[in-house]
Amino acid sequence: MRQLIAGLALLTMVACGGGDDGADLPGLKAVKRAPVTGPGGCGVGDAYVVSEVAGVRLSRPSIMTMQTARALDRWVRSGAVPAIGRRGGGLVELTVAAHYACRTRNSRPGARLSEHAQGRAIDISSFVLASGERISVLRGWRGEDSRVLRRMHSAACGPFGTVLGPDADRHHQDHFHFDVADYRSGPYCR
Ligand SMILES: [Zn+2]
Repeated sequence: MRQLIAGLALLTMVACGGGDDGADLPGLKAVKRAPVTGPGGCGVGDAYVVSEVAGVRLSRPSIMTMQTARALDRWVRSGAVPAIGRRGGGLVELTVAAHYACRTRNSRPGARLSEHAQGRAIDISSFVLASGERISVLRGWRGEDSRVLRRMHSAACGPFGTVLGPDADRHHQDHFHFDVADYRSGPYCR
């Protein structure tokens, strides 16, 4: 029995890290969990609890689909880590402002369901460096960290289908919103 459980756990990790695009994602820590069932159209069938992407930890374990976890991993690896570079000893943590949440867009009554409601979105509010320094979207976007934050924002456009930051609207002054929505016209990034 114990061997069977170990075997199943291994399968889960392989299914997650390997990916159907063949990419090897050694820095991605994600554990498959039971599907999340929510009211209305809320819920996540392909649900994982993600604690680390591209070797960078998340401030809290976050529920999302594997497609979302892969997009986040790709962005951290190719966008966030290089943007920070060696400053403060490098990027060690993403502050997660929101992950799965059964709510409408911008939590407005009657609005369409948010991508968060299907585990297809994540909000990041700050970046913690090894030195303990924190780069925040709220303070940095129009401040001294403008360059590094804008570089990270634009690098997310592609890995994610929607990228929203402080220039998008008043709902995104203190975080980046990323989701894996697929638009025929290409990514929507503001
Ligand atoms: Zn969001």
